[in-house]
Amino acid sequence: MLITPRAEEVNQVVAILESGEFSGPEPMAKALIKQIADILSYREWWVLTHRFGNGQVGVNWAPFASQNEALKTAHRIALNGKFSAIKLHSSGALLANLTSSRRKGWCQVDGCGHADWVHLMNGTTRGKCGLESCPCTAYQK
Ligand SMILES: [Zn+2]
Ligand SMILES: [Zn+2]
Repeated sequence: MLITPRAEEVNQVVAILESGEFSGPEPMAKALIKQIADILSYREWWVLTHRFGNGQVGVNWAPFASQNEALKTAHRIALNGKFSAIKLHSSGALLANLTSSRRKGWCQVDGCGHADWVHLMNGTTRGKCGLESCPCTAYQK
């Protein structure tokens, strides 16, 4: 999982670290792990699949942060047969779209509901949603 932390993700972790709401390191660690899992659920991931040469289904591995990372790993495994990489769309975004209570600060366009930071910059304002599957053409607060 070769990821580059995004500023918005870092901010959410820093908010916990600086909150002063925790009685010790263990409750803070639990809150951090839950928050980071939530943050990562809003990303898209890749699965590396494998079939043996005779067509028999092999083992699938995940998550990888990119198609490139998945396929590079296939190269390192060096098994006979056929590898492919399959994209996993964000479960966080899916679930956010199913609830009417959208996250504060996230896009209010029907069918979007994604974070402001996944919207592509259009000059100084945020334009269409960067998630391939999303119909949103302009970010709305
Ligand atoms: Zn969207
Ligand atoms: Zn949007």
